[in-house]
Amino acid sequence: MSLKLVIGPANAAKAGTALGAFRARLRHDPWLVVPTAADVAHYERELTQDGPRRGGRVATFSGFVREVAQRAGYAARVVAPLQRERVVAEAIASARLQALAPIAGTRGFLHAAGAFTAELERTLLTPQRLTAAVRALPDAPPTLHEVAAIYDRYARGLERLGRVDAELFAWRALDALRARKEVWGDTPVVFYGFDDFTTLERDAIETLSRVVGAEVTVSLTYEPGRAAFAGRARTFAELSQIATEVQELPALDDWYDEAGRAPLHALERGLFEPAAARDAEAGDAVRLLVAGGERAEIELVAATVLELLGDGVPGEEIAVVLRTPARSASLVEQVFGAYAIPHTLDWRVPLAHTALGRGLLALARCALLPADARPADLLAYLRTPGRLQRLELADRLELTVRRRALLSMEEARRAWEEARGGWPLRELDRLRGAAADGPAALLGALAREARTLFVAPHRGQARVLDAAEEADARALSALLRALEELGELAAAEPRRAAELLEPEALLAALGELEVSLGATAREGAVLVADPLAIRARRFDTVIVCGLQEGEFPRPAHPEPFLSDDVRRELNAVAGLRLPLREDALADERYLFYATASRPRRRLILSCRDADEDGNPALPSFFVDDVRALLRELPERHRPLSAVTWPLDAAPTDAERERAEALAAPRELPHPIGSLSEAATALLRQREVLSAGALERYARCPVRWFVESELQPERFEPDPEAMARGSCIHSVLERTLARVSWPIAVAELPAIEQVVREVVAEEASAFTLGRGAAAQAAAAHEIAADVLRLLAHEAEAEAGGAFRPAELELRFGMGDESALPALELTSAEPGDAAGGAPAEPLRLRGVIDRVDLDGAGRALVRDYKSGRRQPSWPVAKWASEDQLQVALYMVAVRELMGRQPAGGVYQPLRGEDLRARGVVRDDVNAGDLVVDTDRRSQEELEQELSAASERACQLAAQLRAGKLAPSPDTCGFGGCAYPGICRVVDQ
Ligand code: SF4
Repeated sequence: MSLKLVIGPANAAKAGTALGAFRARLRHDPWLVVPTAADVAHYERELTQDGPRRGGRVATFSGFVREVAQRAGYAARVVAPLQRERVVAEAIASARLQALAPIAGTRGFLHAAGAFTAELERTLLTPQRLTAAVRALPDAPPTLHEVAAIYDRYARGLERLGRVDAELFAWRALDALRARKEVWGDTPVVFYGFDDFTTLERDAIETLSRVVGAEVTVSLTYEPGRAAFAGRARTFAELSQIATEVQELPALDDWYDEAGRAPLHALERGLFEPAAARDAEAGDAVRLLVAGGERAEIELVAATVLELLGDGVPGEEIAVVLRTPARSASLVEQVFGAYAIPHTLDWRVPLAHTALGRGLLALARCALLPADARPADLLAYLRTPGRLQRLELADRLELTVRRRALLSMEEARRAWEEARGGWPLRELDRLRGAAADGPAALLGALAREARTLFVAPHRGQARVLDAAEEADARALSALLRALEELGELAAAEPRRAAELLEPEALLAALGELEVSLGATAREGAVLVADPLAIRARRFDTVIVCGLQEGEFPRPAHPEPFLSDDVRRELNAVAGLRLPLREDALADERYLFYATASRPRRRLILSCRDADEDGNPALPSFFVDDVRALLRELPERHRPLSAVTWPLDAAPTDAERERAEALAAPRELPHPIGSLSEAATALLRQREVLSAGALERYARCPVRWFVESELQPERFEPDPEAMARGSCIHSVLERTLARVSWPIAVAELPAIEQVVREVVAEEASAFTLGRGAAAQAAAAHEIAADVLRLLAHEAEAEAGGAFRPAELELRFGMGDESALPALELTSAEPGDAAGGAPAEPLRLRGVIDRVDLDGAGRALVRDYKSGRRQPSWPVAKWASEDQLQVALYMVAVRELMGRQPAGGVYQPLRGEDLRARGVVRDDVNAGDLVVDTDRRSQEELEQELSAASERACQLAAQLRAGKLAPSPDTCGFGGCAYPGICRVVDQ
């Protein structure tokens, strides 16, 4: 019966003493208990490096507890993580919370409650004792009673299930050992590498040494009086009280390599000590990396690792330490992967972050929570790798969803099933049907759908999975295991299964399911881990990253259930031993000390002086603590602005190429010039061109080509202005067909009624991509715009002689209801059109309105609905290639046999509703246009001839495939194609 407590600072040969005790008792088959599974593998190797070992086991605490249970004859089924979470959720739901009710429904509360109940069990506190302690507390707030109720319900929930959790299993196993202490025999036990012990672990040590009478050796990194160990003073005090022997080992510097011995030993002895000497020479043993932003920091670390590997340091001798690896795991994977650094990182992601998990959860949401599901869920499901052979079908559905502004999943499903290329999504109905049959059927159906989704991209293949596919394989494995665990829970609680596995909570829990993506430890791989993972190991080089204020040291997290004040009160009133959290900084200091004492040769610290946005970032004061012990701390910098490396420091071939590319002169692409022969031939086949297209071509040929020929579809609904303009157009046309002319101001109230009727009839077209209230407001504004326009016309054209004769007059459209195409021939045949052979131009178009006066002369109107009003006066037509109205006037003359009396562009909206264009000075059009737009008949004919000639020239250039960008017109209405014309940056 003995407990030998071995204490001493880091590198004081405690391992030699502890492992020596283990080796010395090999014939008694001793147990070595270490903190992590990685430590188990490490010490298994270390204990067999001199040859095969006879006897002895190495295990984590939970592995050791299983042995205790087996010897003591204790057996119980342990709840799996998801089962446990459901039991905690059930405890919260059944605890009839009031004070905590506002926050009790969140996932955060559920996680906190799970952690809290586990902590209480590790403290060996029963629900009954907690309830009694709370009752004994004067003025205990209602929340405290509710916290005790949750713990009580949780314990009962486990009991009802006939299961225990991991903490309870250890607790009861130790109880069983106490009851049958003789079963342990004379097996010695050594605890090594722990930085601290929970109450449960201390109970195991005490049970083994004092009750069972086993020979126990405990190694604890502790040196009385040192600031670095302040957080371990209580553990030392408790263990030393039950120890039969305390062996205090002195600090040694034997373990360091020659090159790093002096500074690293000085660091170990002086860290956090106010009176420490401050004159150690850092040499190459202690360095600081300073980077601007997280990515630059990891890149600098990766470059340093590559240099170390290049210098011959084995990968497994390098540890990269992050206080919270999960926070930076993705970035580390990216950078270390890009730099081809072999590494081991216990990287876990939620199931919802894997391709398979995202797809399955989206499918389940669509099937089980259709009222909450959105079109994005259906799209996420359809885009699961392998689900569609033609991914563009999902893109097309997304286009439909966006353009029609579909808000619900059911609408999106209907759109999918009705679309060409879509098909019935029966899997949604299958899952719904399974859910109706009960939780067991639903879990089985989810597992089937998951398997189907997983194999979909691999059907008919037998190749090795790549990294992304392996992630899906791991996701499937984790998911199937979780579904099986939940299935067991449903079978154990058949009457409450539906409640326990309610779809929303079920999907939330599955979404958070952890999937391990990290590679397992292997020879030559750099270890990326948190400080606790390396506390029992030594390395050639340790790189400590993220030494930032608020990151390392990590700030104390307030305990949501029991504050330190309440814990103190409960401990005092009821004699409990609830641990306090006030010593967070002491714990962080110890962790940094433990990390900084792990390297034999090099300690490299890393911090950031700026964040990703360029804001200043404060390094951790631990960096200053190290700096204070050294004469000088060598630094290496990588600023935020460094997008590549300097040529002589590029760590990889790819980085060198990037640096060379940056240093090389910039190569600008040539502006687009003309179409290929094949494309031009296609253009030549166009027999009829539109007047609008010619106008657009005149403005910028490249823009015309993209918008009129390539015709990229918009991903979003039409811009509101465009959609509203087209609605106004339509309402105006239908109103004009129903009212009598001329419009008199006195008749406007009656016309308003007509407008409102038309708007009501057209209301369904006013979707404008928004909800019902917005549609009603849009309809109101459209009616107001049309009325304002008609009122303007009534005033401006009072006494005028023109009356509407044709609305939406079509020509050259190739159908029977339209007039034939307008044929124009250039007056300058031959070479004037860029070398293309002169051939007649055939034009088509739709004239918004043609009015006639009593003499049969025609006035052409073209409605313009945009807010932006370009120059429309006739004086600018030639210089700005305004062709449309002029060509329409020619069409009226040639196709209708009417004398053109004028043509105007009529704005439908905006401040100024005055029409601009040209009107003959010998006709009566009221005040339709301003005086400067009036021309004699000859002048008007000259305008028409000039427009016809220009149209022929443009058509010839167009047919010749000329695509000269026109940067002068870029600002006209904005242009989204500078990347295609490649002219704007030149
Ligand atoms: S950016 Fe300017 S030059 Fe280029 S296509 Fe657009 S309008 Fe034409």
